[in-house]
Amino acid sequence: MSADRPELDRCSRCGECRAVCPVFRETRRETDVARGRLLRYRLARDAGRFSAADREAFSRCLLCGRCLEACKAQVDVPALMQIAKTDSGFAAGWPSLLTEKTLADDGRLDAAVRRYRSLSRWLGRATPDDSGLRLRFALPYLDAGRLYPKPPARGYLEQHTGRRASGVQKLAFFAGCGAGRLLTGVGEAVDRVLAELNLTAAIPEQACCGLAAWGIGATDAARRTAIAWVRSFAGEEYDAILSPCASCTAHLQTRLPQILAGTEFAADAARLAAKVEDFFAWLSRQDLCFDLAGLKVGAHVPCHARREVRDGAAFVSFLKKSGAELVKIDERLDAQCCGMGGSFGVLHPELSRRIGLPKVAALRAAGAAVLVTNCTGCLWQLRDLAARFDPALPVRHPVELLDR
Ligand code: SF4
Ligand code: SF4
Repeated sequence: MSADRPELDRCSRCGECRAVCPVFRETRRETDVARGRLLRYRLARDAGRFSAADREAFSRCLLCGRCLEACKAQVDVPALMQIAKTDSGFAAGWPSLLTEKTLADDGRLDAAVRRYRSLSRWLGRATPDDSGLRLRFALPYLDAGRLYPKPPARGYLEQHTGRRASGVQKLAFFAGCGAGRLLTGVGEAVDRVLAELNLTAAIPEQACCGLAAWGIGATDAARRTAIAWVRSFAGEEYDAILSPCASCTAHLQTRLPQILAGTEFAADAARLAAKVEDFFAWLSRQDLCFDLAGLKVGAHVPCHARREVRDGAAFVSFLKKSGAELVKIDERLDAQCCGMGGSFGVLHPELSRRIGLPKVAALRAAGAAVLVTNCTGCLWQLRDLAARFDPALPVRHPVELLDR
């Protein structure tokens, strides 16, 4: 795959994106802003040669899409950077977990989580139950100072896969790797909210949505994973497929049909993508009330929720409607990425923290008693940041606030 030259040439090099790019704001390096990244990609592609420095430059984009908001030419930088990663062979340096068959296979994913669980016994040190696991030693790709999800004895999917739907709506639940395999609280909270409506969501066998592979440019792995996802959910006619993670939801709603266009799975992919709903977007249409009066909440709306998911920020209005007070911070910080950006947060942990910390500090200073976000990647990042800034500051998925 290669980007169309006209798409690349649409960049007029005006530099408007410099004012909003969170990476450029920190480093002030031309190669760390959309204009510089696109030039670098165009030159390397035209020369037919990509260097390690090119791959490093592409890795320093959060794929957050903030530049799109400032760009009059509407150059889709995140999409172009993903293609740049594919063209430059960026994925070749990543573990086979992300680039081969594991993400498409629930059995292999479960085995990978079991290995992670046993490794974590000697690599990690204890932290409070909901904060994560702090590594003792730095490993390739992993920074010893960062918190990683603490693997539960039995993940949510391990406990519930195979469950059938019941109630007046036929729902399915796609948990995603974070809520399904590395956390239990999010899925359990969703189950309890659905139980209030006398509903149970089906949990078919499921692997990854494919975003992890797509984000590093591993296009073949992303396609295999998309096919496996369609096979998981195509067997039954659901009213909705609920997803608690904005990043998975964005990938399934927007990219699944693109990835499988022109294949025998295209029709099913388009039909199922239309059924995928952000959990709170769906919940907002149900007549269910909660009482969160008096709770001061700091909300982080993930970039995917802001830019791609249908009604992706529904959790904010839902929490307000339930009586919670959403604290206000500076508009620019409010719209900013948390600094995770998938592989960005793993490869550039120090820069990732510099980008994310001011937002956590601002939300706390504005009086937030709890931080919430509806993406499991952002949840991981905010927990790491909160643990450094104020270990007493809890970070939750918004659905966990509903069954306090
Ligand atoms: S704002 Fe758009 S057109 Fe201007 S330099 Fe940035 S990417 Fe290029
Ligand atoms: S997607 Fe985000 S990090 Fe990448 S160039 Fe645009 S604003 Fe910067």
